[in-house]
Amino acid sequence: MDLYGTQKVNEKGHLVIGGTDAVDLAHVYGTPLVVYDTALFRKRAAGFQETFKKMGIQAQVAYASKAFSSIAIYELAAQEGLSLDVVSGGELFTAAKADFPRERIHFHGNNKSYMELNYAFDEKIGCIVVDNFLELSMVKEIAATRRQQMKVLLRVTPGVEAHTHEFITTGQEDSKFGFDLKNGQADKAFGLAYDAPYLQLLGLHCHIGSQIFETDAFTHAAEALMEKMQVWKESYSFVCTVLNLGGGFGIRYTEEDHPLEPAQYVAEMAEVVLELSKSWNYPLPEIWIEPGRSLVGDAGTTLYTAGSEKEVPGVRTYIAVDGGMSDNIRPALYNANYTAAVANRMTAPHDTTVTIAGKCCESGDKLIVDAKLANVTEGDILAVFCTGAYTYSMAGNYNRFPRPAVIFAEEGQHQLVIRRETYEDITRLDLSLQQKVRKES
Ligand SMILES: *Cc1c(COP(=O)(O)O)cnc(C)c1O
Repeated sequence: MDLYGTQKVNEKGHLVIGGTDAVDLAHVYGTPLVVYDTALFRKRAAGFQETFKKMGIQAQVAYASKAFSSIAIYELAAQEGLSLDVVSGGELFTAAKADFPRERIHFHGNNKSYMELNYAFDEKIGCIVVDNFLELSMVKEIAATRRQQMKVLLRVTPGVEAHTHEFITTGQEDSKFGFDLKNGQADKAFGLAYDAPYLQLLGLHCHIGSQIFETDAFTHAAEALMEKMQVWKESYSFVCTVLNLGGGFGIRYTEEDHPLEPAQYVAEMAEVVLELSKSWNYPLPEIWIEPGRSLVGDAGTTLYTAGSEKEVPGVRTYIAVDGGMSDNIRPALYNANYTAAVANRMTAPHDTTVTIAGKCCESGDKLIVDAKLANVTEGDILAVFCTGAYTYSMAGNYNRFPRPAVIFAEEGQHQLVIRRETYEDITRLDLSLQQKVRKES
């Protein structure tokens, strides 16, 4: 089995994450529990930043926080000198609560509301990434009404198809995101944005998809955007100062995934930008990137307690855990694959094939089909690896299960960063018919 980041096995044969015994963590905080190896997050953040530094490129590395949004991860991102992508008023509110430096916040989304945009102006964030014509007209109007400057990027779709799961591919032409680069939409948006009073057009943005392994997809996107920038320079003498190439760098969920080191993707993209800017004599823009999954994905591990077992003779054995699609919907949503281990018996051979099922009332609630595990019995602690991205942030209360607790672990210290939901929390928005009657009488 492959371990991630600071993970190792101690003398008791227990999984250790961030210098803390995972079995102890499960007992202290209960399960399901999401444990972040924050040293791995810091290492990845530094890897991206150092890559740009070595290449002599001005850059911003923005954590695409929809992958995992919470006050504590925003505080950590701020400590590491990252910028931040938010995609909603709710994420912006969370960032404000974390007191994230506003000038390093970038606002994304394909249907930002008038209220959300106004909120972004209230908070004086660093940049709005404009996705469509309605948004462009709203941003222009809000800026003019408030007589307030706002920096903007235009999101474009470069028509690059990345060979990844089709549900998470967003750079191709048939996408709900951004202005099409080839059919004139991007040029029209440019015309509307570049001399708008109070708007400062920084440049272009694209994000071509997620969990991408091929560097070609990234370098082609970079080329496509640079070509458009060059056209605008020649036609309008407009020079983009920022080129934002998005995120989407693939990570290793199972042994079938063979990603490069995340920073390697960035190096290859940046190389293309350096070359083109040199050969076209284009002033080198700042490069911004937006890793989400590759910052938090393999830093997260979910611990569950094993419960009931069912054998379907000659077919498979199910082991049920005390969570499931309510805390990790990715297997049900994308057929995502994971690996797991028995955290309290790491040194036992993991050669038994079982299917790890959740406890939601859905037949499709399986976390791992045909996992290789040591013999599991009730009460064992199962660790599912690489669950740091798009799991807690997609979690829900289906079946009224409380959402798990989340902790950070580093150098033997552990800290609760999201407390476990309680039954009271689950009913906090519910109103009783009785209450209503009482109020009105
Ligand atoms: C989701 C998203 C990202 C991050 O994608 P990852 O695959 O998690 O790296 C970056 N930029 C934009 C605009 C996004 O929507």
